Amino acid sequence: MEITGNRAALVVAGGSGKRMKASLPKQFLKLQGRPILIHTLKRFLSFDAQLAVILVLGRGFEPFWEEAIVHLTAEEAARIHVCAGGKDRTNSVANGLETLEKLVVSPNNFWVAIHDAVRPFVTHAMIQTAFEAAEKTGAAVCCVPVKSSLRQKTEDGSQPVDRSQFFHVQTPQTFHLASILTAYTQRPHDLFTDDASLFQAHGRAVEICEGSYDNLKITTPEDLLIAEKLLAGPVG
Ligand code: C5P
Repeated sequence: MEITGNRAALVVAGGSGKRMKASLPKQFLKLQGRPILIHTLKRFLSFDAQLAVILVLGRGFEPFWEEAIVHLTAEEAARIHVCAGGKDRTNSVANGLETLEKLVVSPNNFWVAIHDAVRPFVTHAMIQTAFEAAEKTGAAVCCVPVKSSLRQKTEDGSQPVDRSQFFHVQTPQTFHLASILTAYTQRPHDLFTDDASLFQAHGRAVEICEGSYDNLKITTPEDLLIAEKLLAGPVG
């Protein structure tokens, strides 16, 4: 099925989630009765009916996905292109980008929002801001300012650091498709923890755009408790 629009979400769900210490990969754990991954996918599916969605699924996760997909309508499920994950996040994103490239008519006129499946609180406003910033500059990463004071270790102890210069990095991270494909194809190694770092290592600038403190990355059992509380409140 060819993609005719000019925007896609690439949701990476290939991690095994060892830090969660659960029997299921964390993206399949339930929040208010539905897998975290489903909450995340629905945020993108409801953002724009023209948005294509690529889902990168870990190898062997098919049975979890078959159980999860019952929470989507047939129309929603039909919009999702599934591909296999890799040995780390970098390889999972690379697989997703290659899958997307094959479906897209013109990668030179296309933008992709790469997003962690375990961030179910992404908002429509954030997705829109990230796409608009990337469409202007080529690359945008959602961030929030650091709230705590910062210190740096020195030889004789430590020193304060100006926190106004620092941000916590989130997803979505949004890119011009042809440019991020080139950066991924020519990457020097697989150790990047996010897409913006890989893009910048390729010599390209990255714009900061507004994320949200609610855009939690669910990593540990404590995060799951916080996520339940956030879902019960006015988030959207
Ligand atoms: O491991 P980390 O917390 O950085 O994972 C961030 C995101 O990357 C998660 O959504 C996870 O499922 C995904 N991931 C992946 N393939 C891997 C490892 C992580 O898609 N091999």
